[in-house]
Amino acid sequence: MDSNTLKQRDHAALWHPCTQMKDYEEEGVLPMLAIRRGEGVWLEDFEGKRYLDAVSSWWVNLFGHANPVINAAIRDQLEQLEHVILAGCTHEPVVRLSERLIALTPEPLTRCFFADNGSAAVEVALKMSFHYWRNRGHPEKQRFICLTNSYHGETLGALSVGAVDLYRSTYAPLMLPVITVPGPDCFEREEGETCTDVARRQFELMEATLATHAHEAAAVIIEPLVQCAGGMRMHDPEYLRLLRDACDRHGVHLIADEIAVGFGRTGTMFACEQGPIAPDFLLLSKGLTGGYLPLAVALTTDEVYDAFYDDYEKLNAFLHSHSYTGNPLACRAALATLDIFENEPVLERNRILAEHIAKALAPLRDHPNVAEVRQTGMIAAVELVQDKASRTPFPWQERRGLEIYRHGLERGALLRPLGNVSYLMPPYVITEDQIGFLAEVMGEGIERATGC
Ligand code: PMP
Repeated sequence: MDSNTLKQRDHAALWHPCTQMKDYEEEGVLPMLAIRRGEGVWLEDFEGKRYLDAVSSWWVNLFGHANPVINAAIRDQLEQLEHVILAGCTHEPVVRLSERLIALTPEPLTRCFFADNGSAAVEVALKMSFHYWRNRGHPEKQRFICLTNSYHGETLGALSVGAVDLYRSTYAPLMLPVITVPGPDCFEREEGETCTDVARRQFELMEATLATHAHEAAAVIIEPLVQCAGGMRMHDPEYLRLLRDACDRHGVHLIADEIAVGFGRTGTMFACEQGPIAPDFLLLSKGLTGGYLPLAVALTTDEVYDAFYDDYEKLNAFLHSHSYTGNPLACRAALATLDIFENEPVLERNRILAEHIAKALAPLRDHPNVAEVRQTGMIAAVELVQDKASRTPFPWQERRGLEIYRHGLERGALLRPLGNVSYLMPPYVITEDQIGFLAEVMGEGIERATGC
């Protein structure tokens, strides 16, 4: 099939995620890429044009497209068992994966509950936390505390604990009543403040909230270190330390949503290590399978697990399930991904790559419409503003980031923006030259988007 036919048939039959479909219709607003194959950091269209996947296909890909190690593992698994119900059955990939995840994550995390996408893992943690308190004789602990600008997925529970208006406000009447606390976003720092200062200052609001609401709160949920969908806003690990301590003091669970930042993105295997802290629930997905197959896991503690372990008649079990929970193919992709981490110096290499990214993007700091170039490990973001001194944003209707995206596509780079934030979150197999190329394309795109 040629790409034009494919695009026409797509337009007649599909409804794409996170997209105003009319944008595809109006010439030039949003081009549709028909991708035929992928290899390493590259995606290739039907005409053989290549695009560097600077966003790791929505932050999932770690070791490149068509990675030989992961491909081989999935092929091998395919010949043995593609799927089996995980209630009443078990299989080797899911057991080995659980053991390895428990060994890799902070010590109190001893149990893996699988789901099949990130939002579903968030739902698992919310329900489990609420249900834990209920089983322990505290049915009044029903509410969740989240941070401004947070994002935890699109299903109703996950959306409820998010705070990005663009995704949430339409559905406000359907949301759970949550408590939203101003977060430690370092972009909001005042003159002379460090990110640690911001974390400490903002934490006072969390402390006050916990003091008032702990009796009715089940858990606090946070994206450790980077609020990704909220525009790659970053905060200091000090906030995690303070939060862990306060959750313990006030008897509230801490849910760490590392769906986007886990598996080496922030410089350490898990962002929580930079506290260092151990959450009561650690949520992983995306990079878990190297970006191959949908799989998610909520890791939790013996303390939580034991609250559900009881005689059947007590009806204390966690009766949550998803059909594809613990899918063997996905687990094999995850095991192969962990093999790569084990056999190669991934985190060390990432540290060097992160330095290259920092160097390559540094010149953009001087641009009159760049408010900030910020970075945590393998996540780097450039925030465009209308006025640099006051940090007044461009009106969102102007869609400046989209202009960078369109420029990127012309030049062979997939730089899908988050509003007026252009960012790099590339696969870990990217090279120094490719980083240079992305920085150059982003710079040109910013010129085109701002006219200077
Ligand atoms: N939490 C975070 C921090 C995320 O970034 C995302 C996805 N962008 C999710 C949850 C939801 O994951 P999924 O898209 O797999 O439902």
